Amino acid sequence: MITSETLSALDREDPLGPFRGQFDLPEGIIYLDGNSLGPLPCRTLARLIDVTREEWGQSLITSWNKHGWIGLPQRVGDKIARVVGAAPGEVVAADSTSVNLFKLLAAACALRPGRKVILTESGNFPTDIYMAEGLVSVLGAGYEVRTVEREDVAAAITDDVAVVMLTHVDYRTGAMLDMTSVTASAHAVGALMLWDLAHSAGAVPVDLNGAHADFAVGCGYKYLNGGPGAPAFLFVAARHQEVARQPLSGWMGHAAPFDFEQRYRPAEGITRHLAGTPAILGLVALEEGVDLYLEADPEDLRRKSVLMTECFAALVAQECGDHGLTLASPGDPGKRGSQVCFRHEEGYAIIQALIARGVIGDFRTPDILRFGFAPLYLRYQDLWNAVIHLRSVMRKREWDSPEFRIKAAVT
Ligand SMILES: *Cc1c(COP(=O)(O)O)cnc(C)c1O
Repeated sequence: MITSETLSALDREDPLGPFRGQFDLPEGIIYLDGNSLGPLPCRTLARLIDVTREEWGQSLITSWNKHGWIGLPQRVGDKIARVVGAAPGEVVAADSTSVNLFKLLAAACALRPGRKVILTESGNFPTDIYMAEGLVSVLGAGYEVRTVEREDVAAAITDDVAVVMLTHVDYRTGAMLDMTSVTASAHAVGALMLWDLAHSAGAVPVDLNGAHADFAVGCGYKYLNGGPGAPAFLFVAARHQEVARQPLSGWMGHAAPFDFEQRYRPAEGITRHLAGTPAILGLVALEEGVDLYLEADPEDLRRKSVLMTECFAALVAQECGDHGLTLASPGDPGKRGSQVCFRHEEGYAIIQALIARGVIGDFRTPDILRFGFAPLYLRYQDLWNAVIHLRSVMRKREWDSPEFRIKAAVT
């Protein structure tokens, strides 16, 4: 039996407790949606004001050199590298996850001439599949996106596969794949491995180099708290960098952008994976989010994330057991990201009713109620309060109201 006191005691001993004060969280809100949009770190607001007023406002174009704007994608990339088990020079922050997928899938296909299959699972995040389809339509000539059920992926890695593209932590259920063993299966038949870390970076321990991953992409605005539409990131293992080329050959990926040469020549290293002018305000906001994250002890983060997901699943069973919410996430925390999801056919309306009570989670079609647990700013007590709200919503059928059935553009 978990009680409110059990959770308060955990808060008192929580080494990460002080981090909450570093976020500008609204009063009265329990935020279980940091997996979709991380909250605002206090320092980000201050930095954005400073960069806007002083650097952009006063130093104008000289800021590209004077304030190091031109090196920001690499500088922020090196910091993200520490979060995902990569080395300096293997990660760059740029563009969106979707665009980075396109770039790296193309680079991977070019490294495996003769192989024409991009293999993924049918439950992968749609943009991943859509971008692969777009690439295949450009490549033409026999290329295909092959989607198989998640449990059939290992058997489907045949010797016509150029690259296996998978999301490490499933966006709906939170199920986490074993990065090392899946990567090894791809390599065993000569395929390359591309990981999408959208729900992993800043959520679970990731060791790209430990797993011998070839390529990876990930989001800046989720657990890294980089702000709405923050630049994403991409990883290219050092061993591929000399030969890997991506097709969006814009001037920021050129060896000498300000020589204005007539022909494209790729820059050395990770820089060739840039395309156009970096979004400076987005990058500085992302840098603050990543810096704050890097101040926390990774072991404390993982321990708290596991305990929070365990407690939340147990509390929902304990307090809302007979209301038809079934756990959609793996029961084993070693196979789960930092989120817990339930299925219920009225999932959408239940989430809306919870939001009306100040508990923010989200809904994923067709029937998933998704709750993300970010150990940097959540308190154990928040879990108790969230579940008590959920219990009220279920017991009183608060969700059963037309206002909670209106579908908004963003769920
Ligand atoms: C959130 C998410 C994305 C988002 O892609 P954007 O291009 O940044 O909008 C991509 N892949 C996965 C698995 C995601 O969860």
